[in-house]
Amino acid sequence: MDDKELVRLQFELRIQAALGRLEASRSAIEQVGTRNGFTDAYKPFFLKRIREQVESVNYTRTQVASESTFWSPIADSESLHAECLAFTEASRARANPINADLCGLTDVFLREIGRKVNGCQWNSFSVLSTEEYFKGLAKIIRLRFPCDGIWELPIAAHEFGHFVASQIGTDYKTFKRDYLTSTIGLGNAWDFYFEEIFADVFATYVAGPAFAFACLLLRFEPKDADVEGIEHPSYIRRTQAIVSTLEQMNNDSDTLSDFDETLQFLSSCWESAVAAAGKLEALQVFREATLKKSNGEPGETDQARIANLAGLIYNRILRPVADDARFTRWKEVQRMQSWLLGTGQPDAGDRFSIAELLNAAWLCRLTPNADPVALNARFLKVCEPRLKGPITYA
Ligand SMILES: [Zn+2]
Repeated sequence: MDDKELVRLQFELRIQAALGRLEASRSAIEQVGTRNGFTDAYKPFFLKRIREQVESVNYTRTQVASESTFWSPIADSESLHAECLAFTEASRARANPINADLCGLTDVFLREIGRKVNGCQWNSFSVLSTEEYFKGLAKIIRLRFPCDGIWELPIAAHEFGHFVASQIGTDYKTFKRDYLTSTIGLGNAWDFYFEEIFADVFATYVAGPAFAFACLLLRFEPKDADVEGIEHPSYIRRTQAIVSTLEQMNNDSDTLSDFDETLQFLSSCWESAVAAAGKLEALQVFREATLKKSNGEPGETDQARIANLAGLIYNRILRPVADDARFTRWKEVQRMQSWLLGTGQPDAGDRFSIAELLNAAWLCRLTPNADPVALNARFLKVCEPRLKGPITYA
C-alpha cells in the first residue's frame, strides 16, 4: 500500500466510525417510547439533526473520493450525541414518576419565567445530570442528580440565565464587551465570570430570596468561599452579586423594604458560616482591599465592583427586557405558606407562580421545627394541576 492508499484507508475507517456512531444515536432515539407529548415532540427534532449530520459526513466522503480534497476533517458530532443521550435518559426518567415530578416541575417553573422575558420563551426540557449546566444546541437544562426535593430547584433559574444571555443577543453582548474593555484589571477568566454573575443576578431577579436561600444555605461551601474557579467566580463574589440584586429589589417602589429582614438574615448566615469555616480574612480582603486604577491610584474595592456590576445588569439589561419577570409578590408569598403547612389551600382564583411557591416553601422551612419532607410533598400536591396541564415542547 502506498501512502495515498494508506491515508484513504484511515479516512474511510473514520468515516465508517462516524456513521456508525450516528446510527447508534439514531437507533437509541428510535427506541425511545412515544409515551407522552414529551417524547413525541422531541423525537423528530433529534432524528432530523442526525439525518443532517449523516448527510454532512457522506458529503465529506464524496469530496475525498472525488479527490477534490485529499483529507478533510469529519464533522464533529460530539455535542449532538451528548444531547441525544440526554434526551433518551430524560425519556426514561420521565417514565418514572419520581424523577418526572421534579424535571416536569422545573419545565413549568422555567416556562413561567421565559414567558415574561422578551424573546426568551423556553420550549425545551430539563434532565438530571451530575451537575447543573446549560448547552445551547437543544437548549436542554441539566439539573444536579440526585435532588433532595424542591429545595435546590431555584438554581435552575441560574441555568435559565445562561439561556437568556444567549437569546437577548446584541444588548447583552455589547454590554459585556463594553464592561470587559472598560474595566481595568480583569483577567481572562472574566469572560466566563461575567456570564456567571449575570446568571446569578438574573436568578435572584426572577426567583427572589428562594434562589439566595438555595445557594447560600445549601450550595455554596463556606470553606471554599474564596476559591476562584475556571468558569465560576468565588462564592464570596457570587454571594455579593445575589445580595446586591436583592438590595436593588428592596429599593424598587413596588417591593420597597420587602426584603429588609431577608437581607439581614442572609448576611448574618453567610458571614457566620464563612467565619466558622476560617475564611473571614478572605471576606475582609474582598470588602476592603482596593484595586489599582490604570494611573496607579487606588480604585474601588472588589466588593464595590461586584455590587456595581450587579446594579448595571439589573438596571441596564433586566429591567428593559424582563420587567414582568421580576419577583414582586413577597407579601402574597407570606399567605401561600398556609398552603404548604396544610392549614389552607389555594382558591380557584388564586394565582401563583412556581417561583412564588418556592419562596413560600423556603420561608416555611426556615421556621423552627419545619418538616422538609412534608413541605416538599405538599408543594408537589399544590403544583399537581400544573404538571398535568398541557406542557408544550419544541
Ligand atoms: Zn452558570
